[in-house]
Amino acid sequence: PLRRNTASFPCWLRAMNVDRAEAPPKSVLVVDDDPTVALMAKMGLAEHGFLIRSVTSGDAAIAAVETAPPDVILLDVLMPGMNGFEVCRRVRTLPTGRQIPIVIATGLDDSESIERAYSDGATAFVNKPINWPLLRHQLRCILRASGDRARLAESEERYALAAAGANDGLWDWNISEQRVYFSPRWREQLKLRESEIGEQMDAWLARIHPDDQLGFRNELNAHLAGDIPKLEVEYRILDRDGDYRWMLCRALAIRDEDGQAYRIAGSQTDITERKQTEERLAHDALHDALTGLANRKLLLERITHSIKLAQRRHHYRFAVAVLDLDRFKCINESLGHRAGDSLIRRVAERIGGHLRASDTLARIGGDEFAILFDDSGEVADLDRLVSRIQREIAQPSVLVNQEVATSASAGIALHAPHYERAEDMLRDAEIAMYHAKGKGRNQHVVFDNGMHDEVSSLLEMEVALRAAVPRQELVLYYQPISRLDDDRIVGLEALLRWQHPQRGLLNPDAFLRVAEESGLIIAIGQWTLREATRQLAGWLAALPQLGDLFVSVNVSNAQFVHPDLVAQVKGALQRTGLEPGRLKLEVTETALIDGTQQATAVLEQLRACGVATAIDDFGSGYCSFNYLHRFSFDSLKIDKAFTQTIDRDPKSREIVRAIVGLAHSLELGIIAEGAETTAAVQCLRELGCDFQQGFAFSRPLSADAVEDLLRSRLPQLPDARHVRHP
Ligand code: C2E
Ligand code: CA
Ligand code: CA
Repeated sequence: PLRRNTASFPCWLRAMNVDRAEAPPKSVLVVDDDPTVALMAKMGLAEHGFLIRSVTSGDAAIAAVETAPPDVILLDVLMPGMNGFEVCRRVRTLPTGRQIPIVIATGLDDSESIERAYSDGATAFVNKPINWPLLRHQLRCILRASGDRARLAESEERYALAAAGANDGLWDWNISEQRVYFSPRWREQLKLRESEIGEQMDAWLARIHPDDQLGFRNELNAHLAGDIPKLEVEYRILDRDGDYRWMLCRALAIRDEDGQAYRIAGSQTDITERKQTEERLAHDALHDALTGLANRKLLLERITHSIKLAQRRHHYRFAVAVLDLDRFKCINESLGHRAGDSLIRRVAERIGGHLRASDTLARIGGDEFAILFDDSGEVADLDRLVSRIQREIAQPSVLVNQEVATSASAGIALHAPHYERAEDMLRDAEIAMYHAKGKGRNQHVVFDNGMHDEVSSLLEMEVALRAAVPRQELVLYYQPISRLDDDRIVGLEALLRWQHPQRGLLNPDAFLRVAEESGLIIAIGQWTLREATRQLAGWLAALPQLGDLFVSVNVSNAQFVHPDLVAQVKGALQRTGLEPGRLKLEVTETALIDGTQQATAVLEQLRACGVATAIDDFGSGYCSFNYLHRFSFDSLKIDKAFTQTIDRDPKSREIVRAIVGLAHSLELGIIAEGAETTAAVQCLRELGCDFQQGFAFSRPLSADAVEDLLRSRLPQLPDARHVRHP
């Protein structure tokens, strides 16, 4: 896995690999004031791989070298103007002329002139008249030598540049002599002085991390043996300070005719930073940024590992738990996301405090944690442990100067041999967690296979429910809402029922969750809107004395944030010709909390249509009072949990009193749901509540039954114009 770098092999190694391709013709610049020399040069050289250019003065020669340097210059000494010695000197000062071999051709043969020519930078010396065949060989000789020198200079230069530029350390191991040369930079990478590393290969190997030694040796030996074309290996190596640094070592062996490596040289690049970035990325891919805990991916990997372990070791037991915070969204919304984040972190710490090092705690969703209990004991122990964790989570904590109480519901899946996939175990723990939620807050439940059956029966129900709409099995019941002053019926809440072909008339509790989870709720909601408005319009047509009776329709959370809601409402009103004020939509607190921004906009649009709105189940939410001022709606419906106990529980009475006071101060209508006894109704009257809805007055009734009820009460209906609307 470490051998990822294949792109760039050190260029200085490539540079040493001298290129021996067929040479192109060499250009000769002939500098002579006598034009016949150029002519003879052409005759004597051009046929033999030389390209002749000629000039007749020193100045022209300088210009030619500057613009198009030749491979070699044949230079006359005696010329008008600048003489040959001078030209030679000048050419040597040009950047393009420094390396060009210059052959001086002259009739002068005194040793002084010759010496002078060399000291001015001449490469060779020929006598005039020129012996062309001989010169040809001389030139070839000169050019070969100068080429080698140039290549050598170039490669040395590139070597120095590459090594310095790449910041690499270099090493060169002479295998036959058993000596390693480490470049100063190589030692510097490890903060070592020359005396501290010596010339032995073992001294190097000894510094390599024990976990990487074998890999390094294997790669090295494989390359020396000729099994792999080059050495390229990453390893950690100890520096003088005792820290390990990540290095990339690349090298090539040099072999004798038998293919036996006698020398190997290469570079060492410090890749510590890259490694750290890679490690960080690898960590991030498997961890949650907020808490630093494992994420779902890592958790699943660990569960997979445990499943495999359990297959090998018969006594090994483990379990997976999923914990979901109750009402976390409320806290997040009312106290802000920062507070929500720090609550999550605190919960993570609290859970972590109860776990062993071998357990895995993961954050697998916004407010969802999962624990892999490694080597867990008996179910009873696990049960106690999860209880303890839940108690700890339920301890109030102070966030942004407010005491916040939260709790968690937990589901546990115990390992069993039939689990082959980590996902299945986690899914079962989640199913169990939903069961725990269903039992109320702060509960935990161990998964059993019956829950699977339940899941499949939910699937069956989904299929049946899908067919229920076209088969017209859905019906609406209506529960009257009355005014407490005079018991007059002011409105009707439309309540959904399903006439199930086998199971009879079903209440929403039995099928609403399936409707919501399958998305069927959108179609059902639209049907409810149409049916309720159609029904009310029908009654109004038949019984004009009904005054301003309204119908209340429940809107599910999904429907409330659905982009079509406003259009559907408008459509239902248009179709029936119902006045918008006769339709009231009941929305729960969570719909508002889940999508605050959108909720505000939807409420505004509904209000603009003239439709009335109510907050349903008010007071059951954690943070009801926190957001009341943020939304514009018309009335509050007090949750039946308070009304049901109002005649017995002074605390409920005080809460209802507070909500009534609040609603009145905000000029909201107030409806108490769930008054089951005349005592409760009396209590509501005394507390100044305006309207009520409950079994004491009437149960939800079929359309026919409610029509009978309305007709029976017609004489009591006061004139519509004097009725105050809740
Ligand atoms: P909800 O909106 O809180 O409706 C009031 C529920 O309280 C009704 O239950 C009603 O039968 C019940 N109730 C009324 N008076 C009393 C009382 O005195 N004591 C007790 N114990 N209960 C009383 P229901 O009809 O079973 O509906 C349950 C929930 O289903 C409703 O609660 C509402 O949230 C939802 N629901 C009903 N119809 C629809 C619908 O058309 N669309 C949507 N989205 N949800 C609906
Ligand atoms: Ca309702
Ligand atoms: Ca309600």
